Amino acid sequence: MNRFDVIVIGAGAAGMMCAAQAGQRGCSVLLIDHSEQIAEKIRISGGGRCNFTNKEVNWRHFVSANPQFAEYALAHYQPADFIRLMRKHHLSYTEKHKGQLFCDQKSQAIIHMLCAECHEGHVINWRPCKVYEISKNDSFFRVFTTQGEAIAQHLVIATGGLPVPKIGATDFGIHVAKQFKHSIVETAPALVPLIVRSQDWSLFSGLSGVGLSGRVSTSSAAQVFDEDVLITHQGLSGPAILQISSYWRSGDTLALNCSGYSSQADLLARLQERIVGSKASFQTLIIDLFAHWPKRFITAMLEAHQFNSLNNRKAAELGKSVLNQVSSTLYQWHIKPDATAGYAKAEVMRGGVSTADLCPKTLQSKHVPGLYFIGEVVDITGWLGGYNFQWAWASGVAAAKSVANRNNVLD
Ligand SMILES: Cc1cc2nc3c(=O)[nH]c(=O)nc-3n(C[C@H](O)[C@H](O)[C@H](O)COP(=O)(O)OP(=O)(O)OC[C@H]3O[C@@H](n4cnc5c(N)ncnc54)[C@H](O)[C@@H]3O)c2cc1C
Repeated sequence: MNRFDVIVIGAGAAGMMCAAQAGQRGCSVLLIDHSEQIAEKIRISGGGRCNFTNKEVNWRHFVSANPQFAEYALAHYQPADFIRLMRKHHLSYTEKHKGQLFCDQKSQAIIHMLCAECHEGHVINWRPCKVYEISKNDSFFRVFTTQGEAIAQHLVIATGGLPVPKIGATDFGIHVAKQFKHSIVETAPALVPLIVRSQDWSLFSGLSGVGLSGRVSTSSAAQVFDEDVLITHQGLSGPAILQISSYWRSGDTLALNCSGYSSQADLLARLQERIVGSKASFQTLIIDLFAHWPKRFITAMLEAHQFNSLNNRKAAELGKSVLNQVSSTLYQWHIKPDATAGYAKAEVMRGGVSTADLCPKTLQSKHVPGLYFIGEVVDITGWLGGYNFQWAWASGVAAAKSVANRNNVLD
């Protein structure tokens, strides 16, 4: 019989961190993954340079039914702790946009580092290894796999979220949670491009690749993001859109303020100022006022909002209500996306195992002693910018400490 103190299922960011830390604290650990290639998401992250954390991380950077749940784990394993670990392995980093910390070496170096940490903790690896059943009696979990049966008093589920199924993502964690009667917060792709079909996107799809800077918000949430927006063939992407996608719900309208003006009143005042004594056409005036927008985008905006019939009219001849309408429309662009681009294109999953059933200090189940959920499978979803990895590290360490503290070694 293969007996361990703890079995960790999922050798990704959270699972490897948890296994290494539990092993180094004296636990016997079995780490199982169904893939030959472990931690694929670390490998492909950050454009190959893993945005492993952010300089400033707190629960406000997370989307959840209860984001404050993350506070304890994040406070007890901070970005500085991970940086210390990187230094131990002679890895360096560079700070980029908005406190995002990227590895100077390839992302693979982080995977090697976690493997070395697991090795130091004498972690046993089973992979590729499929788990086909889990059962529990009073004192231990029994895990049935393609490599045989293993038992342990602690079982950590670290199988991540649903994005990018082609590199091994599954809903295994959600199934285990349901098996043990945990509630699930509805899951959906997050940090994901948005698709626009219903509005006449054909006017914009030809502008694929055009970038704008601005503020984006969605009708059902108070959150706003000041970042870049990218027009794509099918809709919208770019950091601002990825961020807001975690808050976007079907039926919501996005408000995009890329005008560069401080308010609609400011834009209207500039419009009125410019037309006094001017012989310029409406189109010339708009091109002038929006010199920071690509001309092709201005043309599409005017056409999409049926202002193109005004193009050749003298701006000075336009009435106040028309100017009001133009300034309101161009100040804030309202778009109703139809869908997200789905799990194939998402960076994370929002929703997951409800935090209501987990202890925030340990990530242990409140109903099933010895069962833990860590990382992305939990209903804690970070913003873009290294927050998801910091949650993976921090939740992995919290569970490892708990497992080790209980010191329940099987005899
Ligand atoms: C393209 C992309 C880029 C990203 N870039 C960043 C970034 O730069 N910064 C950042 O903070 N976040 C980034 N993320 C998000 C980040 O990768 C995840 O949030 C993080 O990896 C979650 O860690 P995890 O350990 O919970 O899950 P994962 O890292 O996904 O690990 C889950 C592991 O479980 C295994 N597994 C799954 N199902 C089973 C099963 N049934 N049986 C056994 N094993 C199983 C998988 O093979 C995998 O090894 C990115 C995500 C993507 C898709």
